Amino acid sequence: MNDCVFCKIVKKEIPTEFLQESKDAVIFKDIKPSAPVHYLVVSKKHISSIKEVEHENEALIGHLVHEAKIAAEKLGLSGYKLVFNVGREGGQVIDHVHLHILGGWPR
Ligand code: 5GP
Ligand code: ZN
Repeated sequence: MNDCVFCKIVKKEIPTEFLQESKDAVIFKDIKPSAPVHYLVVSKKHISSIKEVEHENEALIGHLVHEAKIAAEKLGLSGYKLVFNVGREGGQVIDHVHLHILGGWPR
């Protein structure tokens, strides 16, 4: 999508340091963290929301979760939250599927 900020990050049109990159996803720090550690797992394919996910995207969504798990290990997080915000009432602002990794709170 031409005007999608996450598509621009995926295509490296907006320079962003990736913690991790796979064939189908990238992971980078959230620009406005809501937790001591806050990363975003972003699909390379533009799907606007979990609401638009179809059967054929099941593996991709599973991949995002698996990439998040690998990143969390890399970041040394012993516990964390994985969050999809879905739709405006669900707090979604960027209409491109992404999974939040939130952690780093004191025990
Ligand atoms: P949403 O509310 O859509 O689930 O989450 C979007 C997230 O993307 C927000 O936490 C916001 O801070 C983050 N974000 C928005 N624009 C950018 C950007 O250009 N770079 C980075 N790294 N994060 C962004
Ligand atoms: Zn996009």
